Amino acid sequence: MDEIERESMEYDVVIVGAGPAGLSAAIHLKQLNADLEVVVLEKGSEVGAHILSGAVLDPCGLDALIPDWKDKGAPIQTEVKSDRFLVLGQKTSIRLPNFLMPPLMSNHGMYIVSMGNVCRWMAEQAEALGVEIFPGMACSELVYGEDGALIGVVAGEFGKNADGSPGASYEPGMILYGKYTFLSEGVRGSLTKQVIAKYELDSDSDVPKFGLGMKEIWEVKPENHSEGQVTHTMGWPLGWKAGGGSFMYHLENNQVYVGYIVDLNYKNPHLYPYMEFQRWKHHPAIAKVLEGGKRVAYGARAVTKGGFQSIPKTVFPGGALLGCAAGLVNLPRIKGNHNAMLSGMGAAKAAQKAIKDGRSGDALADYDADLRSGPVGKDLKKVRNVAPLTGRLGPLGGLALGGFDMWFATIFGVNPFGTLKHGKSDAASTGKSSDYPVLEYPKPDGVLSFDRLTNVSFSATNHAEEQPCHLQLADPSVPVEVNLPNFAEPAQRYCPAGVYEILRDDDGSNPRFQINAQNCVHCKTCDIKDPSQNINWVTPQGGEGPNYPNM
Ligand SMILES: Cc1cc2nc3c(=O)[nH]c(=O)nc-3n(C[C@H](O)[C@H](O)[C@H](O)COP(=O)(O)OP(=O)(O)OC[C@H]3O[C@@H](n4cnc5c(N)ncnc54)[C@H](O)[C@@H]3O)c2cc1C
Repeated sequence: MDEIERESMEYDVVIVGAGPAGLSAAIHLKQLNADLEVVVLEKGSEVGAHILSGAVLDPCGLDALIPDWKDKGAPIQTEVKSDRFLVLGQKTSIRLPNFLMPPLMSNHGMYIVSMGNVCRWMAEQAEALGVEIFPGMACSELVYGEDGALIGVVAGEFGKNADGSPGASYEPGMILYGKYTFLSEGVRGSLTKQVIAKYELDSDSDVPKFGLGMKEIWEVKPENHSEGQVTHTMGWPLGWKAGGGSFMYHLENNQVYVGYIVDLNYKNPHLYPYMEFQRWKHHPAIAKVLEGGKRVAYGARAVTKGGFQSIPKTVFPGGALLGCAAGLVNLPRIKGNHNAMLSGMGAAKAAQKAIKDGRSGDALADYDADLRSGPVGKDLKKVRNVAPLTGRLGPLGGLALGGFDMWFATIFGVNPFGTLKHGKSDAASTGKSSDYPVLEYPKPDGVLSFDRLTNVSFSATNHAEEQPCHLQLADPSVPVEVNLPNFAEPAQRYCPAGVYEILRDDDGSNPRFQINAQNCVHCKTCDIKDPSQNINWVTPQGGEGPNYPNM
């Protein structure tokens, strides 16, 4: 396969991923210099197909990028009207008074949006400025120059047989060359992982940390709907044994986004994040909103939560990491879209200046420095100890001491604990199955809660069967010989799409690991949480995966 002849195209900037980060970079490049040639490549079947956020949008990023977004018809209508934080027991709920929450947690002035729709609209704005956008084009390889700098990507390779050989309808894809290549693949990008390793971009940063976010869209009865209401919860059903919590956002048209995030540093490998989410919907405070309604869509995606100390170096010869490829989510606010947009603008500014100065293929040092010292760094710095405190002390300690740390930083401008370290990676945090109790989960009732495969059908996920498996095992014997005896093979439970199964003969003997790659919703949890770090998520051919409507 090394000898493949490919056509090529040359651009000033090649952008991988049409999320808020990549699209902001594209728009800002053209705003700064309309003559720049800019291309955006997106693996989803259309822009927005793979976008999954809550989402409460802090408009500060969009205000900077397109100040007249309201006049330009941005699909951003539902302003937050009320903001509640509940601590749940099994049947109880206690509302924390808003005055106890650090002001940075307030959602006043924010909007409840479909980020998928916002990205579709941003793509229209970008195209109007002359950006070329190619959806359905997965970027599968990085292309390096002789001096070791990144000079482009391979995109649009289709039609390989399962064994990797070219099939009857094989298309080799193209090489897209850029003076600079921006990786805006979102959390745990498959190409991002490669450049982080190649250029040792994480040598001075703390370990990256993640959560698994699962989300459903519900249409609820009008009397249960409260447009503009934002609710976050902690506590039941995860309790205080693992970090995580929920969100419920009432947008327009009687629709409600409900979702649950489980921190992936949980220890008990018997934990079943998807079932925690399903169980949560049966809490009286949640069920009373959903009862009589219907679930119309489901999806899942990992979310970065390492914050400031986990940001790797974001620049390397020929390219830069943007948005969640660099891990820019503000964890306690559960917000990353504004930082994704601001980082896209920052990278665009640095690349435009470099190109104007006749440079190419070098590291955009200005971008990295501005990211850390500018609004994105300031946003993340204040909250940098919440994740490490939660990791050490559990969610209750994290809530109390993390709250104190954020209040102190707000009032005095410094964090009393300095910068705490995260400790182990999420994979290494997984404990031995024999050391933890097996957890029992109630069967979904099919009304408020659903089994995984039924829910996956509500993500409109699709993958051609005839192609190499995009979930690669470094050692195929590990799931059964290492993970099963030591960790009860947690892939069976942490995957929110039921991709991984242990199959056995009727008498329970002969365990085999099965990968149902066609169910994969591209959340990347397996790549993050596998305790043996044996699963490598690579992109399948373009246009596949979920087809989210208005997530
Ligand atoms: C459950 C959940 C709830 C959240 N809630 C909120 C919220 O309420 N508010 C908020 O501000 N933030 C929220 N976030 C965080 C927010 O989603 C991210 O910060 C944001 O999406 C980051 O934007 P991005 O452009 O970096 O990446 P993404 O939005 O993930 O976009 C990356 C794009 O790149 C594409 N891509 C990836 N790899 C390739 C490849 N190799 N080739 C081609 N295309 C590729 C993907 O398909 C995708 O379209 C939430 C996240 C989750 C998971």
